[in-house]
Amino acid sequence: MREVTTFVTHLECSGTGRKYEADTVQGLSETGKPLLVRYDLDGLTRAVEKPDLMDREPGLWRYREFLPVRKSENIVSLGEVMTPILAAPRLRAKFGGGEILIKDEGRLPTGSFKARGLALAVSMAKELGITRMAMPTNGNAGAALAAYCSRAGMESFVFCPEDTPEVNIREIALQGAETFLANGLINDCGRIVGEGETAMNWFDTSTLKEPYRIEGKKTMGLELAEQLDWQLPDIILYPTGGGTGLIGMWKAFEELEAIGWIGRKRPRMVAVQASGCAPIVKAYEQGADHAEPWRDAHTIAAGIRVPAALGDFLILNAVRESGGFAVAVDDDLIQAAQEECAREEGILLCPEGAATLAAYKRELASGRIGKSERAVLFNCATGLKYPMPAAGRFIDLNEKTDYEALAS
Ligand SMILES: *Cc1c(COP(=O)(O)O)cnc(C)c1O
Repeated sequence: MREVTTFVTHLECSGTGRKYEADTVQGLSETGKPLLVRYDLDGLTRAVEKPDLMDREPGLWRYREFLPVRKSENIVSLGEVMTPILAAPRLRAKFGGGEILIKDEGRLPTGSFKARGLALAVSMAKELGITRMAMPTNGNAGAALAAYCSRAGMESFVFCPEDTPEVNIREIALQGAETFLANGLINDCGRIVGEGETAMNWFDTSTLKEPYRIEGKKTMGLELAEQLDWQLPDIILYPTGGGTGLIGMWKAFEELEAIGWIGRKRPRMVAVQASGCAPIVKAYEQGADHAEPWRDAHTIAAGIRVPAALGDFLILNAVRESGGFAVAVDDDLIQAAQEECAREEGILLCPEGAATLAAYKRELASGRIGKSERAVLFNCATGLKYPMPAAGRFIDLNEKTDYEALAS
């Protein structure tokens, strides 16, 4: 890959706007808010034009000028693909609404879009000389951290709630992380990571506690825009836990407009949560700027079981500014949507992705989503990582097979 200068100028506190130096290890701002990466957008405009992208490899590194890594040798990659956008015409016909497009992020390394964020976080850690990373996780982020750290020759320490899906725990351990199960939720695990920073000399890679995972997730917005020929959809439904992806895409659209690659039109951003853990929805409905921590969080959609999000105000801001909304769906609707999509379209969504379809279906019926709106739904992980219902009918080979009886 050719050497490209990046256009990073500084980091900025998302709460106060205060500037921070970029080329040094940074966590949160002094006021405890996430730091956002800022770029010299004029320089970027002069350096790259849309047609330049056509000659580049697919995947998130094609947006090098929009990303913070300065030296190509620090890029840590596991072959990130450009994820397909799949139309769902049968569901569309069934529901009677507008175009439904599913961006299938399950194709990425480690089977989830956490790969985008961690590819950037680990590459930047390498660039800044960090060799040991730690994080609390509900599963997918830990798997991506473990994989990218092993790829980079770094150590990783991952802390999961004890009821994290077994497949995630095993995957994390197998990919080289020191793996721990704690009797609490992700926020409790986050406390262990934060408090252990001095004793263990690890870097806290928790959602939004370092500036670069957002930049990785931002590539979903860049990629979506490019794939749709720079015409953003009318509405985006995003399964929201910590909200990195929603915040990242919103940032991508802002940067794309600033360099003149898209116009002013923004998709309505819809934050989808599960009824058993819906702090953002509650804050949205109450008109609050911040969300209160959710008690007794539970849902089959582990990736969005996040009782308190550091970037709550950024999520709420994007949702409101875009004219979108926040909405929660029950686990049984999530399961029904997963099954319906698999049967009708041959796409096996993860429960979090299925939550966006459940929300789409219900809010189309309620009129909150318009019949002519072109919608993009995010399927954030491969459905194969999650428990599936038992199936298959027994055939006794000692008996003569009754073929007529096979079609049910
Ligand atoms: C992490 C995760 C989410 C939530 O993503 P955020 O950007 O942190 O809100 C949704 N679905 C899956 C499968 C995840 O792993």
